[in-house]
Amino acid sequence: MGSQTQNPNREKEEEQNLKPWCLQDFEIGKPLGKGKFGRVYLARELKSQYKYIVALKVIYREQIEKYSLYHQLKREMEIHINLHHPNIIRLFGWFPDPERVFLILEYAHGGEVYEQLRKIGHFTEKRAATYIASLSQALAYCHEKDVIHRDIKPENLLLDHEGRLKVSDFGWSVQMRSKRHTLCGTLDYLAPEMVENIAHDYAIDNWALGVLCYEFLYGVPPFESESQSGTFRRIMKVDLSFPSTPQVSTEAKNLISQLLVKDSSKRLSLQKIMEHSWIIRNSDPTGICNE
Ligand code: AMP
Repeated sequence: MGSQTQNPNREKEEEQNLKPWCLQDFEIGKPLGKGKFGRVYLARELKSQYKYIVALKVIYREQIEKYSLYHQLKREMEIHINLHHPNIIRLFGWFPDPERVFLILEYAHGGEVYEQLRKIGHFTEKRAATYIASLSQALAYCHEKDVIHRDIKPENLLLDHEGRLKVSDFGWSVQMRSKRHTLCGTLDYLAPEMVENIAHDYAIDNWALGVLCYEFLYGVPPFESESQSGTFRRIMKVDLSFPSTPQVSTEAKNLISQLLVKDSSKRLSLQKIMEHSWIIRNSDPTGICNE
């Protein structure tokens, strides 16, 4: 007989692990943030012997019903739980109670990239390149699994305790093998094919990488305008210009220009981004850069 069945503690633990999660399995700590449809709390799970620190996302059923989110949420959870990558926040599981749905997420100690960007205005080329390289790796992994994120923006990027970038929020993601038509994502980051509401594919994430790289280096998105229609117009014309300050290298501008291309089939591939001279020269191979 194996030792597993002879150890009463282990037996008890295995029995516990088989039980579905419930709120009593967690000690709830401080609020970490508030999203469109729910709140996120720091929490410690009490079920395993390790007492892991996690982030617990709470979504009220009332909100799910009010905004008809059921299918979107179900899709988000089913896609996210199967993604295991160092630059993607892990979703460990979920459970419902009568009023809410709880998502058990990996805790990102460093908070939002957005907050860092707003605090310091714009990033150094080293930091921007490190984040773009990490993100390209995470997206290449997603695309390999036929998953498009569709909502890449600084607010959906978190940092772990060392400063490693982690993609979060798969609320707009989709698993697909053919082109889609749904209009989604955030205005400043919308690709032309989304603005025109024509079929789109993986290349919308590559467009968003170009917008993100620009915002990391200049502190503002490239097609910003006073009105929504103004932003749409600028996106459709690919009205791209590079301000003289802050000073940004020609190599970085070259990468951005090869991503913000109207014809989605002509955008630089994720593999080519990772091989781009600006990325090779500037990104930190550890994926950690806090300068
Ligand atoms: P969300 O509902 O996903 O937009 O999350 C709302 C806010 O909660 C985010 O903007 C973050 O500040 C925070 N947050 C979400 N997920 C995590 C996480 N896994 N670790 C730490 N903070 C998080």
